Amino acid sequence: MSYAMVLCAALEGVTGHIVRVEADLAAGLPVVVLSGLPDSALNEARERVRAAIVNSGEPWPQRRIAVNLDPADLRKRGSAFDLPIALSILGGTGTLPLAGLDGVLVLGELGLDGSVRPVRGVLPMAAAAARQGIAKAIVPVGNAAEAALVPGMRVLAADTLGRVIGFLRGQCALIEPPEALPQPGGPQPDLADVAGQEMGRLGLEVAAAGGHHLALFGPPGAGKTMLAQRLPSLLPRLDDAASLEVTALHSIAGVLSPGEPLLRRPPYQAPHHTASVPALVGGGSGLARPGALSLAHRGVLFLDEAPEFTRQALDTLRQPLEDGTVTLGRSRGVVVYPAQVQVVLAANPCPCARPTGDAACACTPQVRRRYLGRISGPLLDRIDIQLELPPLKAAHLFTDATARESSPVVAQRVAAARETAAARWAGLDARCNGEVPGTVLRQRRWRLPDDVTRELRRRLDTGAMSARGHDKVLRLAWTLSDLTGLDRPGKAEINTALTLRDGGKP
Ligand SMILES: [Zn+2]
Repeated sequence: MSYAMVLCAALEGVTGHIVRVEADLAAGLPVVVLSGLPDSALNEARERVRAAIVNSGEPWPQRRIAVNLDPADLRKRGSAFDLPIALSILGGTGTLPLAGLDGVLVLGELGLDGSVRPVRGVLPMAAAAARQGIAKAIVPVGNAAEAALVPGMRVLAADTLGRVIGFLRGQCALIEPPEALPQPGGPQPDLADVAGQEMGRLGLEVAAAGGHHLALFGPPGAGKTMLAQRLPSLLPRLDDAASLEVTALHSIAGVLSPGEPLLRRPPYQAPHHTASVPALVGGGSGLARPGALSLAHRGVLFLDEAPEFTRQALDTLRQPLEDGTVTLGRSRGVVVYPAQVQVVLAANPCPCARPTGDAACACTPQVRRRYLGRISGPLLDRIDIQLELPPLKAAHLFTDATARESSPVVAQRVAAARETAAARWAGLDARCNGEVPGTVLRQRRWRLPDDVTRELRRRLDTGAMSARGHDKVLRLAWTLSDLTGLDRPGKAEINTALTLRDGGKP
């Protein structure tokens, strides 16, 4: 027999597709011809496969070897094809029986020494195989835990090509994946750790309940980062579908921790202001790596010292925040990754990073305006809650942490408020108040009585507030009303919303 086929998979964005790796060996000059739109990494596969086969003690066939990856029109990136290519070539020589690979997904990169190395994106590839009725997979040892997350998938792991060859010849066994342990998850930062900052805590709770973006202004040490880090602890845990989706993105980025293969908590990403554009939105050669924006999908993206990010970096965030997806241009076509994030941004009130009113600050109002103006165009417009945090007073630091509300307590209120909002907007393409279009809020059905919105309309009429700002206040008021358990917002909720909207913002 001079023909053999092994099943593998390729990714388009986060969606996996089954690829048939075929090898045909014929008389002729001993060359390897790869077809089926291989990228440059795949050409390097040729050398790795040859060395791995020879170093596993198998003779290299001195024949013309044609390897085809089918379907041809599917773009294939990355190094997961090495192991299937090697096995199909050996199968084609007739020296290796491939009956054990019938209906089995095979993934893995090969080292020159014949070792099987982990690859990125195993979870979404195994999930795609399961959808097509494939119930068995052979993957690198380092990827076994994530592959085993796919319901109904029987996973076996390999550390060397030699072991897979031995397995197919009935001479040795593959490696069982580690047993799925209940997720310990480790301790999470808790809201009870945050001293003082009542407005900041309220802002965080409202942001969590309504899915509102949040901006925190304040001097260093006021607790901006502490608050931002605690937002995920207030958000509902991810449901099964969201959990697999988020984990798949981390799998493609190759950042899954072996100890916690399935991500159940909303992720938190805090890229540094010197981060490159690819680090923020994704990129790189071969299989594109999701950036911080996609790794924060269904979670929190924290931009600390937001004015220090480059204009270019801030601009690249604009479209993804609007669409909930990141589109990466590739040499051939594009890759789209999901990126529905809740943004928290933080900034010092002025470039010298001293508190407002500090005598040593020589920044003119103009300088301060220009500093914060850097974030205003692309980002600040979209942010519902904008708060200035005062410097912490010593008294705050000495209050007993047990007297403060903890994250689980607040998370319960948040969950209840989210349920109320989801039920109200059930017919719309919105899951929380932050996503509801202004036109809906202003419809007769949801319009609030004139005496409730008087102050809001006054600000709009006098030009003190934009139409966009007006809608944001309405959204916040609905969230406050949901948190309080009211039927709809009253004057008090509008007033609090106004304070959250631009409470003491510099
Ligand atoms: Zn200053």
